[in-house]
Amino acid sequence: MRFWALFWELLKTENRKSKMANRLSKASKLYRKIRFLPEPYAQGMKDVKIFGGGIIGYGWISHSPSPQKMKAHLTALWRSLGRTQFSAVEMRKIIAGASLHLSINVLRRQMRLLQQRNVAIQEMYSVDILSTQMTSLEQMVTEGLCDLDWHKDGRFGMWTHPLSSSGFYMEDVLDEKKWKIIGHDLRESYRCQAFELFRISSRHEVAGQDIGAYDPARRKMAVDWAKKDTLANMLILGAVQSPLLRSKNRNGVQSVCPKCMMENPHWDHLWECFVGVVPADVLLRRFCWPRFKEDLPLCAAFAEGMRSFQ
Ligand SMILES: [Zn+2]
Repeated sequence: MRFWALFWELLKTENRKSKMANRLSKASKLYRKIRFLPEPYAQGMKDVKIFGGGIIGYGWISHSPSPQKMKAHLTALWRSLGRTQFSAVEMRKIIAGASLHLSINVLRRQMRLLQQRNVAIQEMYSVDILSTQMTSLEQMVTEGLCDLDWHKDGRFGMWTHPLSSSGFYMEDVLDEKKWKIIGHDLRESYRCQAFELFRISSRHEVAGQDIGAYDPARRKMAVDWAKKDTLANMLILGAVQSPLLRSKNRNGVQSVCPKCMMENPHWDHLWECFVGVVPADVLLRRFCWPRFKEDLPLCAAFAEGMRSFQ
């Protein structure tokens, strides 16, 4: 008897696993369709967020997606958003990943689910939640938050993060007003972690240079500037290669500066020719991230110059 009970439990888990795998492949198919729609980047991003997010986030109760599945999902997702393959993975996380990526989507839903379960246990069975054993769902939520550098005191203590002004308790996630703030803080913690990794990475744009600490206001300014403009979005992602680098690639695309006809110019040359100044600030020079509103005309002039490229 016991054997059969165990057998059915295992079968149910297997069914759930294949159901979740089907969901991911359904999302990948959807991303492929979005990829071929004749729409600007911003609309593609909205489609991915609304339709893809609706498919992938649900149902991860007993296990989280495997790293391979997450990777395959991210590849399909970013392919649907255009030619982003030259951008750093961390930069994709900073710019848009906190709203689109599987891991954070799943964590958000698991947090709500865990608290709904806690409330149900307390209300229906009058059980003190402190006396219950830790389930895999609680384990996944705890690990997911710790991975994003959140800390808490005790099993049901307050979760805190350096970028969160208020912190939160698990009860707060079912309060819609508080959940909005928690969601925002979670996204910022995801971006902050990616920024730190990017800062110390060996990417040619930043290696050996100081790009400072993560600044949410500056990221927002860059995203707002690039809104509705596909090329600007590619620039703030770091998905645009310099003509010099492009000429050295496998296909060796040759091009000339539209202003002075220099062959295969490097990045700084483009600033010099299009804007008349080469900013010392790495994020401004390499990614068109404005520091303040005075930088906006510089970013616009650079983007216009890039647009005139053949
Ligand atoms: Zn030139």
